[in-house]
Amino acid sequence: MVSAPAFRQFVLKVASRCDLACDHCYVYEAADTSWRRKPRFMSEQTVRRTAERIAEHAAAHRLPTVALVLHGGEPLLLGPARMRETLRTLREVIESAGCAVDLRLHTNGVRLTDEYCELFREHHVRVGVSLDGDRAATDLHRRFANGASSHMQALRAVSLLRDDYPDIYAGVLCTIDVRNDPVAVYEAVRDAGPPRADFLLPHATHSDQPRRADPSRAEYADWMLAVFDRWDDEGRPFPIRSFTSVLDAFRGLPSGTESLGLSPVDLVVVEADGALEQTDSLKAAYDGAPDTGFTVAEHSFDEASAHPGFEARRHGLADLCQTCRQCPVVAVCGGGLRTHRYSAPSQTAPQADPFNNPSVYCRDLKELILGIRTRTQASVVARVPAQRALGLPADVLHQLAHGYGDAKAIAHLNRFQRSLRILLLAKVFAAADGASGARQELVDAAVATLTTLDAGHKNALHEVLGHPYTSVWALRCLDDAQSGRADPEDFAHLAALAAATAVRAGVDAEVEVPVRRGAVYLPTLGRLVVGADAGRSVRLRISGGECDVFGMQGWQGVRRVALSMFSGGGIALEDTDPFRRCHHWEVAQRLPDTEAAAWMRTVPAAWDLLARDHHSYAPGIAAGLSTIVPLAPSLSGRAVSSTARRAYGAIGAALPVLRTDATDRSASALALLIIHEFQHVKLGAVLDMADLHDPHDTRLFEAPWRQDPRPLEGLLQGTYAHIGVTDFWRVRRFTAPNAEQRAHAEAEFALWFGHTLRATHVLADSGSLTPLGLRFVDALRTTLEAWTSKV
Ligand code: SF4
Ligand code: SF4
Repeated sequence: MVSAPAFRQFVLKVASRCDLACDHCYVYEAADTSWRRKPRFMSEQTVRRTAERIAEHAAAHRLPTVALVLHGGEPLLLGPARMRETLRTLREVIESAGCAVDLRLHTNGVRLTDEYCELFREHHVRVGVSLDGDRAATDLHRRFANGASSHMQALRAVSLLRDDYPDIYAGVLCTIDVRNDPVAVYEAVRDAGPPRADFLLPHATHSDQPRRADPSRAEYADWMLAVFDRWDDEGRPFPIRSFTSVLDAFRGLPSGTESLGLSPVDLVVVEADGALEQTDSLKAAYDGAPDTGFTVAEHSFDEASAHPGFEARRHGLADLCQTCRQCPVVAVCGGGLRTHRYSAPSQTAPQADPFNNPSVYCRDLKELILGIRTRTQASVVARVPAQRALGLPADVLHQLAHGYGDAKAIAHLNRFQRSLRILLLAKVFAAADGASGARQELVDAAVATLTTLDAGHKNALHEVLGHPYTSVWALRCLDDAQSGRADPEDFAHLAALAAATAVRAGVDAEVEVPVRRGAVYLPTLGRLVVGADAGRSVRLRISGGECDVFGMQGWQGVRRVALSMFSGGGIALEDTDPFRRCHHWEVAQRLPDTEAAAWMRTVPAAWDLLARDHHSYAPGIAAGLSTIVPLAPSLSGRAVSSTARRAYGAIGAALPVLRTDATDRSASALALLIIHEFQHVKLGAVLDMADLHDPHDTRLFEAPWRQDPRPLEGLLQGTYAHIGVTDFWRVRRFTAPNAEQRAHAEAEFALWFGHTLRATHVLADSGSLTPLGLRFVDALRTTLEAWTSKV
């Protein structure tokens, strides 16, 4: 049973000794001395137990991906053979639970060799290196025990990664010392060619103050702003997290680091002896500060997650002291790193929370944040497309940006779409007034009926408004009204909505509904074909959830396929609604019974496959997919599917193979189409809530899977859909029923992986993504990169 918030980042202390003796080290030189009691290396047994616990945790919380950082001390002290075993165990055990692993390692670089890099490339481990800047800066702290400089070794490590192994190069971490020249340090970091970098404040507390030459000045802010200015002047050649986090926080985005912002922390440390600890930096506070008393041998991560130390970083503002809560930059700063808030309890108030203080870097943080804001107010607005992000909570955004979305995340999109449809209906009511011409009387009656039903039968109204093609109809009414081409027949469709709602509400009513192209339509329920001579409208009598046309000759009810996990009667096979003709592919006519039977057979088979093998998608699909519109099959026999941007909750597809002897292949082909198209549905809904790209950019971009270039949104949609396709084949490599199909899946996986990864680069380089769009695409790439394992 899930009992506490999930951890998503796991720092594994695979070695607890180091080959350097840096005097600013928070592991060996700070208040905590627990390293003395730890084994030199994490044992094989502890590695396996840790992997099993993570797998258990990921399964319980349905985590599609976890991030693992191998850390120390110095993790390369493990040696290549032991490292290989460790990586193999971690991947094998965790991925067998259906969870992808994003593996990283952080090193001082002294022992990084080609052999290690080949191993990391093989296991898709990204490597970060500590580099404090140029020779002078490095020698200030980062020395061997005999006092020798480690600068050459660090330079050799970053050169190896930059020049020969850029695919596994994660970036550079630089600890600040304000005695160093900030520009020289920045240039040394820049020259290391990192894909990203971070500048870290040295760990300090109120009881162990940071070094300051002039306590009256915010020296750390001055130092960082000098770096910022140089970085900005050079066109920001690589992301620097300390700055990008502040810029993101200005826009209301999560900071992505525990050092800034109010986002909850989801990181746990596993020490070399299997102890489960809080963030490492707490070692700078007092001896034993990161302890929880839990161990991986005896406790689950859920048990550890309930520890008050983790709880203390989950409640945003509520976890901060009064000064921080009232601070004008608290949303960006978040009180800084928790460790930096520590003040040893005084004898007069021994019970007081020792972390209930502003950061010891308070002035520096405030001046840094305000300094960046002053510098970027003009330039950011000019350079970055405007961005909206309506109420997408961080955890929902996290899942969707990685290409996934569980039932809870999709329920969030559903709620937003529901509000959107209510808004659209209100706008149609307003536009219909005066635009309905000869249909005004019928429309007025429908508006009155809908208004009454809205008061007492909201669920029924939502069921009808939730029909995907209702918003297609509403937007058509509004577009036409705005352009002065309003069609009274479209507004008359309000009566059809009123009748369908009355049926679903189970009330007694008589509703005059329009005849449209020889049929009367009841959205979500079906249509009555009355022929071309039936007149302009038909009066329907509705009672107790029935309508007098049900069962009449000419009545064509919407067929539904009942499926596990779906609520509300499964999926509708919609082949009656007039507004479904908005797909880029011709829709099928009303299905004859034989074809409908083939759908009724194949959809459950496809769903069984999705529910069994594709856990990262099935719950989201069950929560959000309401309708499949059968499309006309392609004459060439190729798979056909389509999503209409305005029809949230629906996908269109032609049944892949109709031969009865090939149900399994039809099912797997349909499962793939469902994953692919539902990705479009999700992204369409995200784009209704948030701006990921500049809509005014009309350039066309390379789409690796097509001959012709695509507009930016088309490329983004294609990329998002193909990440689902890649994942389908990734899983199918192991689950296909025979060797031939598994080999086919392997080839498809390689093909789509390459195409999709390439597309994420084209998107990121377009220069037209918003900051949120960049983060979104970065998250997609993280997901892809975590799949490169052969396991
Ligand atoms: S390399 Fe890292 S772990 Fe080793 S002594 Fe230096 S700071 Fe500490
Ligand atoms: S640490 Fe200082 S700058 Fe940060 S939120 Fe608290 S009071 Fe504001």
